[in-house]
This record gives sequence, C-alpha cells and structure tokens, in this order.
Amino acid sequence: MKNIKDYNLDELKNEFKNMNERPYRAEQVFTWLYKDKVKSFDEMTNISKELREKLKQEYTMCNFKIVKKLESKDGTKKYLFDVLDGNMIETVLMQYHHGKTLCVSSQIGCKMGCKFCASTGIPFVRNLSSGEIVEQILAVEQDENTKISNIVFMGIGEPFDNYENVLNAIGILNNQKGLNIGARHISISTSGVVPKIYDLADRKTQCTLSISLHATNNEKRSSMMPVNNAYPIEELMKACKYYIEKTNKRISFEYALAKDNNDNLEDAKELVKLLHGMLAHVNLIPINKIENGKFVKSTDKNIIKFRDYLNEHGIVATIRRELGSDIEAACGQLRRKSIEKN
Ligand code: SAH
Repeated sequence: MKNIKDYNLDELKNEFKNMNERPYRAEQVFTWLYKDKVKSFDEMTNISKELREKLKQEYTMCNFKIVKKLESKDGTKKYLFDVLDGNMIETVLMQYHHGKTLCVSSQIGCKMGCKFCASTGIPFVRNLSSGEIVEQILAVEQDENTKISNIVFMGIGEPFDNYENVLNAIGILNNQKGLNIGARHISISTSGVVPKIYDLADRKTQCTLSISLHATNNEKRSSMMPVNNAYPIEELMKACKYYIEKTNKRISFEYALAKDNNDNLEDAKELVKLLHGMLAHVNLIPINKIENGKFVKSTDKNIIKFRDYLNEHGIVATIRRELGSDIEAACGQLRRKSIEKN
C-alpha cells in the first residue's frame, strides 16, 4: 500500500487528480495530517465518508509504533520505533534553550562503516521513505504534545546515501500549510559523499550542511572512515569550498575527539591549515564510547586545549554538549536495536 506521508503537497494534489478528486481535497488532507496531526482518515471530518473509504483502501497513514522510550537525566528522550515492517530505528529528542531538536534517522542501518560509530555494527537493511522520515517528527510531536523547532539528520544512516527521499522529506517538513519547519532549522550531516555536496550546493537550499571530518589527513581519516577512500580529503574540501561559494553559507565541520588518535596539537594545527579562510565552524564532539570500539574519549583538558587552539588561530570552534549518553542516545550510539537491552 502507498504511504500518504510520502507525498509533498503538489504530489498529493496529483494523486487526488488521478483519483478524479479535486486538488483542494488534497490540501485538506495535508492539513489534517500535519497541522491537526490526526492518526486516522476517519478523523478527517470535512472529507466525505466515501472519499475516506477510498483513501483507506489506497493509502496507509504509517503511524509508527513506539516500542520503547527512554529518558535521560538531562531530559533527552530516545525513541525506538517499529517502522511497521518489523524493522526498528531510533530517534532522539533534545531540549535546548532555543527549542526542541529532533535527531532523525534516514536509513535502517548504514553502509558507511565508520569505525567509531555504533550504527555501523548492524547490516544495512534499506532506505527510509520520505514518509518514514517525516513520521519520526509527527510521532514525537504527537507523543510529547509538543512542537519541534529544529531537525538534524544525524541519526542512523547516511542522508546522502538516501538523497532523494531526504530532500523530499525536507520539502514536506518545510510546507507552511503543514509542519512549517523552515530549511534554516534543518541540518544535514554527511560522512562526505562528495557528488551530493555539489548537488546540494546547486540547489541552493537554506539547510545547514555538516561534514563529519574527524581527521585532517587521508591516512588517519581512511583508518576511521572508509568513505575517505572513495572521496579523499582534497576532493571533500574542494566540494566544500564550492558549496560555500555557491550558497554563501557556513559549513559546520564535526570532529569527534579520540584520545591519542586525533586530539593532539599537531592535529589542531593541520585542522587550522585545512580550514583556513573558509566560512566554517568546527563542532568538537567528545567521542562517545561504543561497544567493541577502540576509540576512547579525549580528556576534558585536551578537548579545551584543542578548542582554544582553533579559536586562537581564527577557526570558530565549540564543544558539543553531550546529551543522552546515559541512555545511549548520544552521537554515534544509535543502533537499530540498542535499547532492547536496557
Ligand atoms: N552519516 C551521517 C550522519 C550520522 S552521524 C554522518 O556521518 O555525518 C552524526 C554525527 O555523529 C557524525 O558527525 C558522526 O561522525 C558522529 N559520530 C558517530 N559516532 C560517534 C561517536 N562514537 N562519538 C561521537 N560522535 C560520533
């Protein structure tokens, strides 16, 4: 069955046209889905019974099942969703002073194989559809009776490996007649899939681009992230410069600090050289330990030293707050089934 949440408003109008229904009906349904956030076609009371029946036969509403929900002592909440075919994904809700941010998954599993990330541990199953990406936001807003202000594509999966669905989901999220989450409030994080960086630049979206950099030379980066073999640092940086030139937007570089691996002064110096003159921001992440992972978090002292060195040499750097690590909801700790053992 088709998922009604896979369609942006224009596409939904087309679907309705093909059913010989008037396009404004599609708009009404869209509003019920994303403004009123109903969970069944029967709640759409301004739609005729006959049309509701037709919709029920054609489309699923894809209401995810919450298998588990965990709450961290810092207020972070982690959801394990059944995406209705028995597969599970995780979604994390974080509270910041400026609002609520949802960290969404883009795939069931991940192909990228980053050595420090828990999402790598379980084989890739499939891409999430646009509707399944959007449903994560809806399900959490319904469950918490709240409004989410920011979205980060930093959950399970590589968003640029499911590019069309991710962009289409963003189109649905943006719509003012629906969830109305502006592109400026959406960040996409990539391990460095270069061709898609060029493509995103050409589309001139207002989304924020984050690049998972983590190392400053090819030897080290390849040892942490196999994607670097396909797209080495020189090509990655060339694409980033093109993106900045085209969009005039700042790129956020993520750098997870692991003790005695990428956290010494030499690394900081190389990072300054690499990002010199670029419209960039560095997000330092104290690396989170994962099961069987060989990387250990840098000391607080070293993390601060690293940040200060960058700041003193003209690179804006901040340390990302560690949210939700007590419930394995922090960066790199998401897996398809991880909370089952809690
Ligand atoms: N696949 C995308 C998005 C998911 S990961 C990407 O690679 O960017 C979101 C961020 O968490 C990335 O920057 C990722 O490198 C980082 N991350 C992964 N594992 C981590 C860990 N163990 N500790 C800290 N950050 C980690």
